[in-house]
Amino acid sequence: MNKPLSGAEVNELISGLNKLSRNLWWTWNQEAQDIFQELSPRGWQNLFHNAVAVLHEVSEYELRVRLQDLEFAARVRVVLADFSKYLAEPRTWGHCHAAPLYKNPVAYFSAEFGFHESLPIAAGGLGILAGDHCKSASDLGLGFVGVGLFYREGYFQQAIDANNWQTEYYNPVDPKNVPVEPVLDANGERLLCRVEIGLLAVDFQVWRVNVGRVPVYLLDTNLPSNEQLYRDLTNRVYGGDSTTRIMQEMLLGIGGVRLLRALGLAPSTFHMNEGHAAFLTLELMREKIAAGKTFAEAQALTKPECIFTTHTPVEAGHDRFSPELMNYAMQRFSGELPITFKQLLAMGRENPDNDHETFCMTVLALKFSRAANAVSELHGQVSRQMWQHFFKVPENEVPIGHITNGIHLLGWMKGSVRQFWRKKLTASHNGPAKLFREKFGEDWASAINHASFWEKMTDPAFVTDEELWALRYKLRRELIEFARRRLLLQSQRATPGDFIRYDHLLNPDALTIGFARRFATYKRAPLIFQQFENILKLVHDKSRPVQFVFAGKAHPRDDEGKRFIQQIIHLSKHSELTGNLVFLENYDIHVSRQMVAGCDIWLNNPRRPLEASGTSGMKASCHGCMGMSIMDGWWREGYDGHNGFAIGDDSHPDSIEEQDRVDSANLYKVLTKQVVPLFFNRDVNGIPREWIKRMRHSMATLVSQFTTDRMVKEYANKYYTAPKN
Ligand SMILES: *Cc1c(COP(=O)(O)O)cnc(C)c1O
Repeated sequence: MNKPLSGAEVNELISGLNKLSRNLWWTWNQEAQDIFQELSPRGWQNLFHNAVAVLHEVSEYELRVRLQDLEFAARVRVVLADFSKYLAEPRTWGHCHAAPLYKNPVAYFSAEFGFHESLPIAAGGLGILAGDHCKSASDLGLGFVGVGLFYREGYFQQAIDANNWQTEYYNPVDPKNVPVEPVLDANGERLLCRVEIGLLAVDFQVWRVNVGRVPVYLLDTNLPSNEQLYRDLTNRVYGGDSTTRIMQEMLLGIGGVRLLRALGLAPSTFHMNEGHAAFLTLELMREKIAAGKTFAEAQALTKPECIFTTHTPVEAGHDRFSPELMNYAMQRFSGELPITFKQLLAMGRENPDNDHETFCMTVLALKFSRAANAVSELHGQVSRQMWQHFFKVPENEVPIGHITNGIHLLGWMKGSVRQFWRKKLTASHNGPAKLFREKFGEDWASAINHASFWEKMTDPAFVTDEELWALRYKLRRELIEFARRRLLLQSQRATPGDFIRYDHLLNPDALTIGFARRFATYKRAPLIFQQFENILKLVHDKSRPVQFVFAGKAHPRDDEGKRFIQQIIHLSKHSELTGNLVFLENYDIHVSRQMVAGCDIWLNNPRRPLEASGTSGMKASCHGCMGMSIMDGWWREGYDGHNGFAIGDDSHPDSIEEQDRVDSANLYKVLTKQVVPLFFNRDVNGIPREWIKRMRHSMATLVSQFTTDRMVKEYANKYYTAPKN
């Protein structure tokens, strides 16, 4: 029975683990994560939960010895079998609904992808969404490939200096130590491609991220054959000035298409995630011209191949390049197009005859897409308004639709919560669970996306108030202990020695309000402190305490955003809020997951209507954390009056000052009139029944609606597989 594993069996498990570590499927499979964590608990914690790095941390000899623990080996075998089954699954949604995409896939271009904390190549929500889009495309079994850039230094890490001012530093991303693989050519050599940028031809190599069944290709110019300027081109996410920016975008758009051709791919749709990728349209035209088409024919043939998603109504979110910069960056590439420079510029101009107009990537994308969409219903309206003068048709006829964003549910769910729901689903003695299993079988990873699973949340026979409350307490404690650990580390860097205080920061019984996102000024991080005296009263009410956890990065050149951070940290250290308000440094996917799980309330107070969608609030629902939000972005569609809390209504004043004043007053009103009383209204057993009722309703109505599972199906039905005309 307890026979030791043979050498061959051990070899097989080791090669299986190596393969698994280089497929991000493990980031949304709890059992797989448990295995890597168990191999090196400290390595797991210190190395950004990175399976590849853990396998480097553990020697091959140790691994062989550890696998002789037969119980451990058995678990590894089960995970590897699940992984193989996932990769080979013959009956996916894609097979049934989008089979033509296997021959001619969707090519999804994005300047950033946020997959996991071990691969920090995203700056914010746009990248996170791109990562989640790929994960769901994989789950659904779509013919789909991603194209992006491999940033050697990634996005910046945040530190706070003695003046509470954000400073930035960069950790080199070593391709050998992160979940990527080099892309090789037929001879087993590095695949190399080339793009003309400025006067030179720039070579690039490629790294593949395996996202379940979906490959994502990341272009990298860091090669000895390139001049230093171009070697550094892919160093940082949105690094440098607009010259770097235009060159990065040429690499992404033009280089991305060339790479796909080198791989022998003929995508049916090129999906531009934001205008950053819009130069791909020029390369598609160049190809057609090289094959003998006229410029007009090439333009007409390119448009049906492309679709475009716009992500922001904020003006700075739309890239614009001066004619001089275009001239400099495009001088060699544009020689391949049979057009004048003025004609080239016209493709990115609203008014082709205006020689002073800049070249706008959004305009280019809109001109050469068969379909364009915004990312929520309200954002659709705002975008149609914004671009009406360009299309010159009545506002409701502007050809910009909307598909509301979502999240990859299993990827965002905290480990302890994955286990909680999974146990619920598989508990055989439980009536509703049994019925549910009969409907969906044991495939819990797909069942978890179904509305019928989340509708069960209103059924006390499926999960009791007491169980839900216990879960909430556990998650809040996990967050508070995480925050204390983090704050201790932060403080040791600043002022060594005062660690005792940190074990008493925050109160595990307090109503915990979270705010974490990019510190773009329109998101108004410090808005709530406009009611400073009132907030103090709330925080110091001993019988009904409230506390705040903040996190977020400001763009390196955004001093106003940095002032917001400074202001909040200052309050956390030097006001009567000390101990009840903390700022966690270095917001990333990991911090985000801790916060959306552990907070009771997720605060969202953007300046309406500038939050195109927002996704962090969607990550909260499945953990039983409820939204308290301005009626902007996704919340306007999600909120039904009983599944969270609304700040204000479906309108906003015109002036910014008035808006800030009204919104902060409303915020405080909702907090004191609704949120705090509901949270602290406990029955004889100490359970806040009404709060939990609202929480159940929030899970039942929001979770399955705001997933990328739903979103990618919409993209597939509406755009990827629809007839092109
Ligand atoms: C979810 C997420 C975002 C986006 O949050 P918004 O609510 O859309 O602002 C940004 N950064 C990280 C790390 C995230 O996890």
